[in-house]
Amino acid sequence: MKTDINALVSPVVARLTPYASARRIASGGQDWLNANESPFVNPAAKDSFNRYPDCQPKALVQGYADYAGVDKQQVLTTRGADEGIELLIRAFCQAGTDSVLICPPTYGMYRVSAETQGVAVTEVPLLADFSLDIGAIAEAMAVPCPPKLVFLCSPNNPTGTRLASAEVQAVLRATAGKALVVLDEAYMEFSPDDSFAAALSQYDNLVILRTLSKAFALAGIRCGFALGSTTIIQQLLKVIAPYPVPAPVAQIAERALDAKGINWMQERVEALNQARTKLAEALARLPALEAVGGDNGNFLLYRCPQADALVEQLARQGILVRNQSKQIGLDQCVRFSIGTPLQNQRLIEALTRFYGN
Ligand SMILES: *Cc1c(COP(=O)(O)O)cnc(C)c1O
Repeated sequence: MKTDINALVSPVVARLTPYASARRIASGGQDWLNANESPFVNPAAKDSFNRYPDCQPKALVQGYADYAGVDKQQVLTTRGADEGIELLIRAFCQAGTDSVLICPPTYGMYRVSAETQGVAVTEVPLLADFSLDIGAIAEAMAVPCPPKLVFLCSPNNPTGTRLASAEVQAVLRATAGKALVVLDEAYMEFSPDDSFAAALSQYDNLVILRTLSKAFALAGIRCGFALGSTTIIQQLLKVIAPYPVPAPVAQIAERALDAKGINWMQERVEALNQARTKLAEALARLPALEAVGGDNGNFLLYRCPQADALVEQLARQGILVRNQSKQIGLDQCVRFSIGTPLQNQRLIEALTRFYGN
């Protein structure tokens, strides 16, 4: 079934024409006197930043399209994947009327972003093995006013589990014509074979979220991407800020995506994967801990008795880990990000001390 994106978009946004920023209307020329910019270069910066940047820096969009194996028309650069989540909700959900569907335990920002925008959240929890409850998702879609967006996360944060391609396809079928499937691939570099980017053109209701924050080690620059059909990207461009990508961010991100940059990233992913295996082996020797979920991201999840006390004691030693106990099905579960070999070793020693082995 075809999905009519223009019918799915929030009526407010459907009527909207994007803000006509100076840079969108005209670029080129020698005397740029149309944007109230300063003609001077501020010596606080090495490069000249006196001009507004492109809304969507061309070289960066092309660089990410090449990296992801999609067309440049299918790429939107955002301030992190978090902004992608926010823009999708703003473009497709009307406050007070529409809802989104999430499958907890999962990344917390889907709910926060929906709630801060007055959009209701329907929960269809993952099954005990952290696979999708396809039947319940299909049921949630078979109501008069179904959710507009279905958020899936693979590899999933914080469970580290991946969705089987058949599960994602089943959700894409159950939602066709009614909702967009937002597949969050923030950790795809740690599980590259699972990406749906190559299938993007097959599904007109699929959007993929990506980021430079995790495998690319660039969380500080706030750079992410939404991948989807040109029609979907056009709608998101209506609600994004006129100049969302700061010029220095675009410069750094472009370099991170050149051949050398991608090679650097892949070597680091390899190192983190090895360190994760080593950490898992060490923690398997602590009988108090029970491994929960999978190892498809740069983190591991364990059920840790007295999780609150543990997290507090680790913090007192300067080791910060994430208690996930508030999430459905994750009572007493703590998520450990993979750090340097020294950081991982300190974590192992602190855990060993806490559980008295
Ligand atoms: C870290 C994370 C994000 C946010 O990424 P940013 O690009 O830093 O905003 C999105 N989704 C998941 C699942 C994450 O773990």
